[in-house]
Amino acid sequence: MTILVTGGAGYIGSHTCVELLQHGYDIIVVDNFSNSRPESLHRVKQITGRTFQTYYINLLDKKSVEKVFLDHQIDAVIHFAGLKAVGESVAVPLQYYQNNVKGSLILFEVMEQFSVKKLIFSSSATVYGNPKTVPITEDVELRATNPYGRTKQMIEEILLDTAHADSSWSIALLRYFNPIGAHESGLIGEDPEGPPNNLLPYISQIAIGRREQLRIFGNNYPTADGTGVRDYIHVVDLAMGHLKALEHMQKNHGIEAYNLGTGKGYSVLEVVDAFERVSGNQIPYTFVKRRPGDISSCFADPAKAKKQLAWQAMRGIEEMCADAWRWQRNNPTGYRIISEKTPMQKPTSVFLMH
Ligand code: NAD
Ligand code: UDP
Repeated sequence: MTILVTGGAGYIGSHTCVELLQHGYDIIVVDNFSNSRPESLHRVKQITGRTFQTYYINLLDKKSVEKVFLDHQIDAVIHFAGLKAVGESVAVPLQYYQNNVKGSLILFEVMEQFSVKKLIFSSSATVYGNPKTVPITEDVELRATNPYGRTKQMIEEILLDTAHADSSWSIALLRYFNPIGAHESGLIGEDPEGPPNNLLPYISQIAIGRREQLRIFGNNYPTADGTGVRDYIHVVDLAMGHLKALEHMQKNHGIEAYNLGTGKGYSVLEVVDAFERVSGNQIPYTFVKRRPGDISSCFADPAKAKKQLAWQAMRGIEEMCADAWRWQRNNPTGYRIISEKTPMQKPTSVFLMH
């Protein structure tokens, strides 16, 4: 089976490419490297000993997307490509709607044109907004509270309408909770540009000496220790969720949403503690006021994915921190030493890399 992976050079995409290749799938990667580097894909090849084609294209360029489908017999698409920074989406919403919603529309139109109707879409727990109760089940009302989350919610709605209009589509909307960690090889991992917004990369960069101290956003939440609670999930467990969804859609049509989380929430202080234990490094921190838009507590009810996809997260918080630390320790500046960042630009032609 040949799987087209959009955004395959990114954090979750690269880990999913590894699992796909190791489980016998062939892959084609599409990425414009706006938030990633080609080096991640070289590492995927190094880990798996397998090769694949990569198209350096922007999903907004429909002709180039069509070329990929003309060049290959694609069986299913896993669509990771998108911009993902909540704060940035508030500052430049039109860029987010353009890149995420329009890019997705173009992809879906081309899929329909070529009768490729199996799709896994990277959605997010952000679509739940500020949940009334936890754990969160898939059937609660979606109420995203920022432009990034609304792009995910809109794309989900576009896909719901598409699947209802044409019952031959098989679509899995995977709502990720908080992916952290890295592949156990230490060769691929999360490599944010600039100061990290997310907790784990920030902690790892303190441990490696690139940042001074963690600012913990709020210690007066209604949680056990007052700091925010999230459902952290190992990125390899998350990647495996995509393989399980692919298997499921061989036999099932229609559209379903699934929470991919562990079902267990950890506070910021618990994560700091786990990271200190596995890395042997102290993480200095200070409490500052709450980050605007943050919620108190968010964790999944992952029962639906367990029942229907036969998937559940296997790795605990210590393994997540240990793997994140191995990646950071082995690659203090991420992928930067090896390759210079490809500038953000809209390519004018399809550039094919082997
Ligand atoms: P990432 O930024 O590391 O990867 C996204 C990839 O998409 C990058 O390689 C980027 O260059 C590429 N891309 C973006 N726009 C593109 C375009 N128009 N054309 C071609 N390529 C494009 O992000 P990630 O953490 O791997 O996330 C993957 C997906 O999962 C995203 O859709 C994100 O919104 C979603 N998600 C991520 C998280 C998280 O915490 N990491 C949580 C929930 C959902
Ligand atoms: N957080 C923090 N300091 C940071 C980054 C994050 O205290 O520098 C907290 C944040 O308030 C939240 C948790 O860590 O309670 C996870 O934040 P992240 O941004 O990683 O995920 P999200 O809030 O998007 O779920």
